[in-house]
This record gives sequence, C-alpha cells and structure tokens, in this order.
Amino acid sequence: LFAGPCDFIFASAKASDLPVIGPPEIAFAGRSNVGKSSLLNALTNRKTLARVSNTPGRTQQLNFFALGGAPGAERLRLVDMPGYGYAAVGKEKVANWSQLMRDYLKGRASLARVFVLVDGRRGVKPLDEEMFDLLDQSAVSYQVILTKHDELKIAERDEVLAATTKALEKRPAAFPEVIFTSAQSGEGIAELRAAIAKLMAE
Ligand code: GDP
Repeated sequence: LFAGPCDFIFASAKASDLPVIGPPEIAFAGRSNVGKSSLLNALTNRKTLARVSNTPGRTQQLNFFALGGAPGAERLRLVDMPGYGYAAVGKEKVANWSQLMRDYLKGRASLARVFVLVDGRRGVKPLDEEMFDLLDQSAVSYQVILTKHDELKIAERDEVLAATTKALEKRPAAFPEVIFTSAQSGEGIAELRAAIAKLMAE
C-alpha cells in the first residue's frame, strides 16, 4: 500500500467542492509545524506529497491523495488537512478553516479516522483540545500521533505519553492508543502503517 504511487487527486477549499465519495479516507490534522508534512512524506516514502499540500493557495485546503492505485482506482485516500494555529492567519481565515473542517467532518461516510498530530515536545495544548472537541462533536473516530520522538529523552517520552493518554480518556470518539513517531528516526512509522492497514480491513 505504501510502496506504490501516491498521487494528488483533489484540493477542496469549501464543502460544496469535495471529491465524490470513494474508497476509505484517512485524514491528518495538527498545528502548523507539528511535523505533518515530514510524517506524511515518511509514511508514503515520497517527498512530493507534502510539497503539493504546501504550495501557495493549497495550505488552507483539504488535499486528497490516492494510495494503493492510480486516482480513480485507489484503495485508500489520504487527506491532508490544513494546519491550524499559525499566528499570522487572520480571523477570517480561521473562520473559513473551521467551516471547512466542520462541513467535511459532518457527513463524510468514507472517513475512517482522523489522525491528530501533537508535538511530542509540547504535549496537548488548548488548540489541540479544540480539535478533539470538534471531532467528538462530529462523532468521527480519531487517534493521536505524538511527533518528534527523536527530540525527547526517555523520561520525557514517558511523561508526554502518559499525559496525552490521560487527556483522551474521557473523550468519546478518541481511540485510546497513542502512536509516538519520528520522521527523522522512523520511530512509529511501521506502527502507523499497521494501524492504517487494520482500519482498511475493518
Ligand atoms: P508541518 O508544518 O506540520 O507540515 O511541519 P513540518 O513537517 O514542515 O515540520 C516542521 C519542523 O519540524 C521542521 O523544521 C522539521 O524539520 C521539523 N520536524 C518534523 N518532523 C520531525 C521529527 O520527526 N524530528 C525532528 N527532530 N524534527 C522534525
């Protein structure tokens, strides 16, 4: 699944402009700078995926990619969600972002899971909690990925993992297991791939 091509399919800036429902979708969300581009590149073994998402004009959109087959015959879609919390983004853009996310999450029957990336050095912050709120309200299954595993000492890893697991305990749509990753060392990438493969088999 991850060894083959991963082609860009579609970018959506508004809910009326989403691609027609097809194979299962797995979405990735997180604050700007959390390491989402790096992780998506590591996951798919290529550099182009995140470059496409980061081209000017595309950073505020949902970007869809085909996995496991050419567009139209893909087995899975990856959805790169726009990063949130970037200080320079104005109020209007934040409102647009919220609307797009809400609309996408509301009735997307093919959306199997959202992976929410949280910076391992920072842990869960209020903006991440807002994302969890939105996902709980939308009743969309989500799982947290801690990033930048390589930057932390063993005791720090244990601490952030325990705190993150605790933050998710009472959240109805959260998957309890947290995956710790590093795009740099490759930590957790196999585990993430296995989690995605398992979702597809369900
Ligand atoms: P995005 O804004 O979420 O797409 O984040 P990027 O993937 O562009 O990464 C933001 C910054 O974090 C860059 O400076 C990356 O080099 C760094 N970064 C991303 N992933 C890792 C990681 O696994 N380990 C380390 N040490 N740095 C990382």
